[in-house]
Amino acid sequence: MSERTQRTELSTLGEFGLIDRITAAVELQNPSSLQGIGDDCAVIDPQGLTQVVTTDMLVEGVHFDLGYVPLKHLGYKAVIVNLSDVYAMNAEPRQITVAIAISNRFSLEAVDELYAGMLTACNTYGVDLVGGDTTSSTSGLVISITAIGAAKKEEIVYRHGAKENDLLVVSGDLGGAFMGLQVLEREKAVFKQDPNVQPDLSGFDYILQRQLKPEARKDVIALFKEMQLRPTAMIDISDGLASEAMHIARRSELGVKLYDEKIPIAPETHRAARDFNLDPSTCALNGGEDYELLFTIAQADYDKIKGSPHFTVIGHLTDKASGCQLIDRQGGQHALKAQGWDGLKG
Ligand code: ADP
Ligand code: MG
Repeated sequence: MSERTQRTELSTLGEFGLIDRITAAVELQNPSSLQGIGDDCAVIDPQGLTQVVTTDMLVEGVHFDLGYVPLKHLGYKAVIVNLSDVYAMNAEPRQITVAIAISNRFSLEAVDELYAGMLTACNTYGVDLVGGDTTSSTSGLVISITAIGAAKKEEIVYRHGAKENDLLVVSGDLGGAFMGLQVLEREKAVFKQDPNVQPDLSGFDYILQRQLKPEARKDVIALFKEMQLRPTAMIDISDGLASEAMHIARRSELGVKLYDEKIPIAPETHRAARDFNLDPSTCALNGGEDYELLFTIAQADYDKIKGSPHFTVIGHLTDKASGCQLIDRQGGQHALKAQGWDGLKG
């Protein structure tokens, strides 16, 4: 946590003082936000569109470690993970609400940092903070954010819309956020043993940024509109490619074949994985937190994405009986497993 010279106790403000302080910097920018903070409810004009709603909760010690995550980054990321879910529906996020439980371990300056991060994300993505709740916690920090988005009903893309033989496509590259976390955890362990040792984070800029300051793929949704491409199914990659590919297949009542050699992995992610004696593909398949978009398209739409630097075709959908398979570099077939992070680190 960044050291601050000033420390103002939260108790000096009280709940209402804190809410006033938090919300002083909020400016509404979306015409659909009719009423923001300050009444019993926020009021939203759907403007003839269909609305989508999603919530994500982050718990200190479970989802984040303030030992190496600055509060400003935490606030930013807490918003991003929600916006990513809205983009995964092919919708535009417009509002968020933020509920926090906070202990007296935190100062007013710490809360300011957290909200500065959240409001930076809001401004970057054109989203309004329209409400929330503030309560005390006996120990850790809990942040629960709800994002509300909108789209034309016929433009919304579900996990369940994939068809047999559709192509499985991913944006960006994978495994970086997981490798960034490995680097942070390694340096934290070194620091615990000897606080005089400065953390060595050099050469890992990209993967640290992927872990600490992820972005949501707003640009991809805009590209779809430009390309006149409507994915048949879509999900964002929060838990790892393997589990997300299986979600699309299962919800669409199909199987999937995913080709190991096609998985896009950045050179720095590759190098870091080798440093840690980890298989880069395994990191991409099970690491999670990449917040890229995984989607399916009809084969007839392949020309629309061909040659795009943003997209990689990594497999295709099959009949349900074929199951969910990973094809290795030798052509061998393995049942996909949704291992998640714990399996990787255990
Ligand atoms: P109520 O008692 O009606 O729940 P509150 O006193 O909790 O109202 O909140 C007052 C206003 O401040 C409401 O508009 C609420 O949405 C907003 N608010 C409360 N806490 C937060 C927070 N942590 N972040 C953003 N807005 C908040
Ligand atoms: Mg309240």
